[in-house]
Amino acid sequence: MNKDYLELSGLTVSFDGFVAVDGVDLTVLQGDLRFLIGPNGAGKTTLIDAVSGLVSATGRAEFAGEDLLGRKVHQIARRGVGRTFQTATVFEELSVLQNLDIAAGAGRSPWTLLRKRSGVPEAVTEAMETVGLADLRDTKAGILAHGQKQWLEIGMLLVQDARLLMLDEPVAGMSAEEKDETGRLLRRICVDRTVVVVEHDMDFMRSFAKSVTVLHAGKVLSEGTVAEVQADPKVQEVYLGP
Ligand code: ADP
Repeated sequence: MNKDYLELSGLTVSFDGFVAVDGVDLTVLQGDLRFLIGPNGAGKTTLIDAVSGLVSATGRAEFAGEDLLGRKVHQIARRGVGRTFQTATVFEELSVLQNLDIAAGAGRSPWTLLRKRSGVPEAVTEAMETVGLADLRDTKAGILAHGQKQWLEIGMLLVQDARLLMLDEPVAGMSAEEKDETGRLLRRICVDRTVVVVEHDMDFMRSFAKSVTVLHAGKVLSEGTVAEVQADPKVQEVYLGP
């Protein structure tokens, strides 16, 4: 088995006594495109917040055999774990190329960043191609379409060499075409990386998920292929009522 897998055991996050993530066991293998679904408040975002170091948690979280809990956000990022937020966080005044260049330099010394580079680093060119923004390299991020900003953010994770990408509702607010484009992009990315998507859009999930975990009240309710979780009476009950 490839060592690049995410393994959570007994992952628990509490806010002042309220348990938002409650003893979650979860394994995501390299190459998976795992969708995390569940009703509002199920703990999906909190789970990826915990894995990326934004909130503290107990239990275990390992990626590629390395412990993540107790580490700072940048330390976790350096171990190949990257995430996006519901609202894209790109530098609006900078071009696509500059955004990717800065992301590629994250973690390096300021001196490296200041030094004049000869040409565009290969990883940046590759990421621009992968996310379909090569033709817009000199366009300011602020005037990109909503979908393109999300793709730029994904590109920023790629140049940081994230091997596990956790995306929080990446297609929220996108047109049908943008959603399809995003799905195809995620399928390309998971060929040699691992992707976890928190998602409310069930059509998008049905079209592109390789596997699904359903969270409910902080716990794993169901897990499997799209067909398996859809056929699970527990899942139907949570979504449709008894
Ligand atoms: P989901 O992403 O599945 O909609 P969240 O992970 O955002 O759910 O939230 C899970 C629960 O934890 C919710 O009840 C939410 O109100 C609560 N929660 C999330 N973040 C905080 C916080 N910083 N402080 C207190 N409660 C929080």
